[in-house]
Amino acid sequence: MTALQVAIPDYMQDPELEMFADSVAKFFQREAPAKRVEEWREAGQVERDIWTKAGEAGLMGVSVPAEYGGAGGDFRHDIVIFQQLVRNEVDGFGLQLHNGIVVPYIVAHGTEEQKHRWLPRLCSGERITAIAMSEPGAGSDLAAIRTTAVKDNGGYRINGSKTFISNGQLADFVVVVARTDPSLGNKGISLLVVETDAVEGFRRGKKLDKIGHDAQDTSELYFDDVWVPADNLLGGEEGRGFYQLMKELPKERLMMAINGVETMDMAIAATVEYTRSRKAFGQPIYDFQNTQFKLAECRAKAVVARRFVEDCVRRLLDGTLDGTTSAIAKMWVTDTECRIVDECLQLHGGYGYVNEYPIARMYRNSRVQRIYGGSNEIMKVIIARSL
Ligand SMILES: Cc1cc2nc3c(=O)[nH]c(=O)nc-3n(C[C@H](O)[C@H](O)[C@H](O)COP(=O)(O)OP(=O)(O)OC[C@H]3O[C@@H](n4cnc5c(N)ncnc54)[C@H](O)[C@@H]3O)c2cc1C
Repeated sequence: MTALQVAIPDYMQDPELEMFADSVAKFFQREAPAKRVEEWREAGQVERDIWTKAGEAGLMGVSVPAEYGGAGGDFRHDIVIFQQLVRNEVDGFGLQLHNGIVVPYIVAHGTEEQKHRWLPRLCSGERITAIAMSEPGAGSDLAAIRTTAVKDNGGYRINGSKTFISNGQLADFVVVVARTDPSLGNKGISLLVVETDAVEGFRRGKKLDKIGHDAQDTSELYFDDVWVPADNLLGGEEGRGFYQLMKELPKERLMMAINGVETMDMAIAATVEYTRSRKAFGQPIYDFQNTQFKLAECRAKAVVARRFVEDCVRRLLDGTLDGTTSAIAKMWVTDTECRIVDECLQLHGGYGYVNEYPIARMYRNSRVQRIYGGSNEIMKVIIARSL
């Protein structure tokens, strides 16, 4: 598919970043070619080996300071990886969650001892991460979680079940959201690290049979009397979990918007190519004015979305991105992404409904963008609060 031309924003205009983008693209083309990604989709998960290779190539923890084993980059390096994952159609490989969500919790909230203990292996590819917040009875309403972590024998005993956990089958480093004091509401929530091969009582449940992201091993996880040492309490202080989660949310939501604008352009590019080659009534589908108008509308929305997301990235980089603005980006961009992908699928006719065509996969994969990371209804609750 021929990519659409997009202007490189000022903050990405750096020869070092351009070289990095080139090497990341080559890494995915070499290690995750279309045939291999298809095998992962059929297997329902990626092979562990891609994680190890990504670690060896310096892609895991690219923005982690060098003193903790990272590459010493910043969020712009992570953006390069997120973009290349979408542009090379490597769906299902949970590197975005690892680099953009879980590792930053350790960097931002871990004690010095925890950072030195954990981060080198999170950067080298020896450890694959997951964040276990959602439970069968608590998704949007995080305050309703029932998993407990009770003080016991110099550590904590964790009991509970989690669901929808990305990287669930492969992760061996799980950040668990649990109640350390049920009487304190949000202030009684803490984050505890479970290294799954070092504990008893941890079980992986079934890999969920989803409509999209076929190669992503989203799963149920069970914690039955799992004991972890007190040193595994993130930040070393009880009751900080809710704050730690909320603090990182603006960036996490912006990441979804970054994915959204990449997918919009991929969908438009695929549709321009398809409609130029497919004929009806003796002419390419592209030549119908309806096709051109629909694609023009999609392109206009995609450009507007991209400019807004770029503005949010600038604000994130200078430390001024607020929760409301990132909620606006997450909600509007992912809603628009789904509308654009739907229009593009329509222009493919029946072939758009066939999985072999990338647009069908984009349609299935993009749907969850409006649900996870805080549903778009929750984004509206946040935006409305600011009015
Ligand atoms: C593929 C996938 C991967 C995921 N990965 C992870 C992961 O790695 N870790 C993790 O912890 N979780 C993960 N999740 C869970 C995800 O974060 C939740 O699904 C999401 O937060 C919504 O929660 P829920 O599914 O329980 O829906 P519910 O909270 O039950 O919501 C159902 C509906 O009610 C609406 N609603 C809820 N509250 C309100 C309100 N106050 N006002 C208006 N409408 C409301 C919602 O918007 C939604 O439309 C993942 C989910 C999926 C599908």
